[in-house]
Amino acid sequence: MVGALHCTGTPTEQAHAQPEGLRDNRPLSRCLWYPKPLMTDRYAVFGHPIAHSKSPLIHGLFAQATGQALEYTAIEAPLEGFRDTLLAFRAAGGRGANVTLPFKLQAFELATHPSEAARMAGAANALKFDGERILAENFDGMGLVNDLQRNLGVALAGKRVLLCGAGGATRGAILPIAAEKPALMAVANRTAAKAHALQADFANHLALHTGGYEDLGGMTFDVVINATSTGLSQDRLPLPPDVFARDALAYDMVYGKGLTPFLQQATEAGVDRLADGVGMLVEQAAEAFVWWRGVRPDTRTVIDRLTVPLT
Ligand code: NAP
Repeated sequence: MVGALHCTGTPTEQAHAQPEGLRDNRPLSRCLWYPKPLMTDRYAVFGHPIAHSKSPLIHGLFAQATGQALEYTAIEAPLEGFRDTLLAFRAAGGRGANVTLPFKLQAFELATHPSEAARMAGAANALKFDGERILAENFDGMGLVNDLQRNLGVALAGKRVLLCGAGGATRGAILPIAAEKPALMAVANRTAAKAHALQADFANHLALHTGGYEDLGGMTFDVVINATSTGLSQDRLPLPPDVFARDALAYDMVYGKGLTPFLQQATEAGVDRLADGVGMLVEQAAEAFVWWRGVRPDTRTVIDRLTVPLT
């Protein structure tokens, strides 16, 4: 039997609400089951928390536009229960999953067949189930590059690109950006040692300029990307104002927050090309959709629908 997951109920209630044959008294996240037609392929995004996720909306719109019969839900896995929740979903017929904070690392570790992008990021944001095989991808970096080049019209070849932050998002972005042959790639981070560690990890692939923000004096960049979590905390980055070249693009990976402190900083430095990460979000979803379904959805209408003005 195939069922739809809805996030509610105690573990005991869940165990009793599961269909016969699947009832094994293990907590299945916080989810209840009820029957659905057998033919609907099931996907889900896993995170904690997950209520804020736009992925069900995005994939629902993709499915509608491409005529794909699928169900895509949001599942909040317990903090200590990602593995069990994901495997129960697969056992119940799940075909694939997106994974968001804080489970991207665990998703990578669970994979039997991680892609090069997932390996270099050390994290996965998309999984595909194929029998016993768990294929893992990391589409965040590709989503960023597609947004920059296709949607915003910024060709990265020959450009000087600065990534602020040295967490998972930067790690995932380095190779896809490097593949476009920028003239220079730099990573600056509050904890400089974490940026230097990236230089060592990617040494076989490219020469990265790394350091703290204080090391950026005298350098200018055509594309400055905020891959820190300051868009959520309202903190400012200690960026030298002349870090933005003339006609630079300032890009904040966070989305739906309007004019973030980073974008405000860029505006004050005279930058008028600003973008947030809504396009990256939709483009990484599109890559997962193609991977799962073999059909490329149009992203423009979905980006327009989710865009919050940068004011
Ligand atoms: P992460 O792994 O937790 O890394 C956070 C980074 O932010 C670290 O480099 C950290 O520096 C830095 N940071 C945090 N607070 C700071 C502060 N007050 N001042 C300076 N630096 C600070 O997070 P992540 O997964 O890389 O995500 C980063 C951002 O990208 C988040 O806002 C996330 O929402 C966004 N994102 C967007 C998409 C999309 O599709 N649009 C996809 C992925 C991520 P330290 O190392 O010094 O702590």
